[in-house]
Amino acid sequence: ENTPSAPAQPKVRSRGLDVPKLWAEEKSKRKASAAFVVIGHVDHGKSTLMGRLLLDAGAVSQRDVDRYQKQATELGKSSFALAWVMDTGTEERERGVTVDIAQHHFSTDSVAFTILDAPGHRDFVPNMIGGASMADLAVLVVDANQLESGMKGQTREHVLLAKAVGLKRIVVAVNKLDSTAPNAWSQDMFQEVKGNVVKFLGESGFAKEDVMVVPCSGLSGENVAKAPEASGPAAWVAETDLTLLKALEQSVPSEVSGDALKRPLRMQVADVFRGGITNPLSVSGRMTAGNAQAADAVLVQPSGETAAVRGVEVNGEPRDYAVAGQICTLHLTDIDPIHIRSGDVVCSAAQPVSVVTSFLAKIEALDSLLPQSVDVHLGRLHVAGNISQLVATVDTKGETLKKKPRMVKAGQTALLKVTVEDDVPVEDGETVVLRAQGGTVGFGTIERTSA
Ligand code: GDP
Repeated sequence: ENTPSAPAQPKVRSRGLDVPKLWAEEKSKRKASAAFVVIGHVDHGKSTLMGRLLLDAGAVSQRDVDRYQKQATELGKSSFALAWVMDTGTEERERGVTVDIAQHHFSTDSVAFTILDAPGHRDFVPNMIGGASMADLAVLVVDANQLESGMKGQTREHVLLAKAVGLKRIVVAVNKLDSTAPNAWSQDMFQEVKGNVVKFLGESGFAKEDVMVVPCSGLSGENVAKAPEASGPAAWVAETDLTLLKALEQSVPSEVSGDALKRPLRMQVADVFRGGITNPLSVSGRMTAGNAQAADAVLVQPSGETAAVRGVEVNGEPRDYAVAGQICTLHLTDIDPIHIRSGDVVCSAAQPVSVVTSFLAKIEALDSLLPQSVDVHLGRLHVAGNISQLVATVDTKGETLKKKPRMVKAGQTALLKVTVEDDVPVEDGETVVLRAQGGTVGFGTIERTSA
């Protein structure tokens, strides 16, 4: 292949930081951080709500929103001004590229948040799986006026996928309460929708204590970051004393344990940024193990090519190092960009992640499964593959029920040998989602990479 070689880079000098030690000292002083994905049916107000959150949390200026408002009004779409905050995200503006999983950052006094937004336009499901697998929690947006359809279609699918990638906590925003009929801020409608959602999430496997439900309006702004007036139709909302932002703060997971920092580096690449002026090649993603600092040597799988880290960003800001649990950007050098794609894993060169074409997975079947072709989703990565062998059905403890069944029925859990058409970097314990004919047919974890 006739590809230009990587341009010469300035050599990066190591500062030799003892990251686990520094982090142990720093983490108590630093804000907690958390990332969430926004899920829910199209038009239920996800983008508007997030635009509102960014505005009221001070991450976007009123001046910017006024400018969008003017442009939107000229186009006869004035109600879309807040949603545009999300469409023209900071990443996209700054780097001049479209990204698959946009990151928006905002902070409260106690928490630094990252919104992971998979834009709906193209390849939505793979991007959503990718975004959700980087997240700590999900925000489910439900239009209060859509009592029936709220639990169907995309809502159902997104909730299922959130569960499939292992998300445990959900904050539900019962949205558009400013427009309930016949009267706005109908408490009855809120209660009815809340009842439906909680039941549905329970059936989908979310524990009651991990679900919070908040009434709000993204468009008019009540109860997103600011509580509504204590008088007027939304007074009952003020009494709950739980804005969406407070609910998010209360849902922040505990910090990743110090041990995770000392394990070999693992970071799946969510997006690759090429052609930046100061940083010609950068990758973003969630670090799931280990840590990184400038001058670290890393390996990219499946290409097996090495690279050097020239800089690190966390929550959109330059930092001396990044640690497991953080959403970060690594600026890389000493590698030809053709060797790195989204879905790849950046890992320790000394202890790299394995690359395989088949593995054994413990899968909960959502549909009947036969030896058949499936799309295999491993976080951000998705490849064509096959269920090549039904090894056994198992009980909740993992004990074998039946060896070599002829089929696995919906609701059963089974050990399956999965074969993929490309080399994939994977590890034991990683989540797998299997899809076929546009639907999710099973999900679970990798039991053994050497199948
Ligand atoms: P998304 O597809 O879920 O991201 O939804 P959008 O944020 O694009 O909103 C879809 C439509 O619903 C737009 O016309 C919005 O102006 C409108 N909308 C969004 N949030 C609210 C709300 O809180 N109240 C009302 N009345 N309309 C809203």
